[in-house]
Amino acid sequence: MELTPRRILDNALDAVGNTPLIRLDKIAAEHGLKCNLLGKLEFVSAGGSVKDRIAKAMVLAAEKEGKLIPGKSVVIEPTSGNTGIGLAMACAIKGYSVVITMPKKMSLEKEALLRALGAQVIRTPDEEPWDSPRSHIGVACRLQREIEHGIILDQYRNINNPLAHEYTTGPEIIASVVSTPSTRTRPSSMKVDAFVAGAGTGGTVTGVSRALKKTHNADCIVVGIDPIGSILALPNSLNIDGEGKPYVVEGIGYDFIPDVLSRDVPDALMRKEGLLVGGSSGSALSGALAWFKTEQGRKVAGTEGLNVVVLLPDGIRNYMSKEWFLKNAFQTEHSDLATRITGI
Ligand code: PMP
Repeated sequence: MELTPRRILDNALDAVGNTPLIRLDKIAAEHGLKCNLLGKLEFVSAGGSVKDRIAKAMVLAAEKEGKLIPGKSVVIEPTSGNTGIGLAMACAIKGYSVVITMPKKMSLEKEALLRALGAQVIRTPDEEPWDSPRSHIGVACRLQREIEHGIILDQYRNINNPLAHEYTTGPEIIASVVSTPSTRTRPSSMKVDAFVAGAGTGGTVTGVSRALKKTHNADCIVVGIDPIGSILALPNSLNIDGEGKPYVVEGIGYDFIPDVLSRDVPDALMRKEGLLVGGSSGSALSGALAWFKTEQGRKVAGTEGLNVVVLLPDGIRNYMSKEWFLKNAFQTEHSDLATRITGI
């Protein structure tokens, strides 16, 4: 096998991003797709998610602007967890303290990782609206007012959130697609024809879409995925059916609380493609499969060689203790071969 040498990296921040694009051929065949279905696998980033990219970008930018003082600054951030993990990793390396505010529904695994990286974690009630003083955002604002040298880098407003995707995620996707030759057995348009991603802050979908449309393919179709129960979709009429329904999936959708997650879909990514992805990856794929049934999506699905990229934001190791994961893992039917042989 050909060995591609990688230089020695200075620290974990150098191992953020640069993630692979992987064919989801079995799922594509099962759904009768003629286009190429490709997954951008973000859990292989050093902190385990797509949000490492923005955490790194926000910390480096704040340092450049002189807003962070090693040994003094306390970085405070309201997050569904992954931005917090990226920030805690960056701040562990750089020597800043970190306080993370996170709604209760987010997994224990994320909290444990945050604590292991040295962050303090404050859990807030799931049902508080974002502008309540008791929500994760409200509590973070109060902490910033009261902690000396406290600073919120603010993924919801920080320009470096979409920019990190415009400068890294988008160009990486383009580079993977244009450097993979079109062959008789694997035809390719050599372009990214459609991009599908869930929206939490919307940073990923906004930044990648800019990179794709500005520098690569102005006609690229961008599909944003929002869980039922969230309010991010346009037109607003799309949000009405699910209003107020709580949702299980972590990291996408606001305010803030539905169960869009088609549980069989992250399962399919694991069992059919061997990809250990988390819930919002399942939501993104499930959204892509729903889009393939629309008029616009049908045309793409039926054309050989078109490239459809689905962003897979994090890994299942963030969610191993969650009931939806354990139920699926243990309810799977297995061959009884081993039991027949051993009798156990
Ligand atoms: N999936 C997961 C697991 C996440 O943590 C996030 C970030 N909240 C997203 C998807 C959405 O990414 P973005 O904030 O860029 O829209």
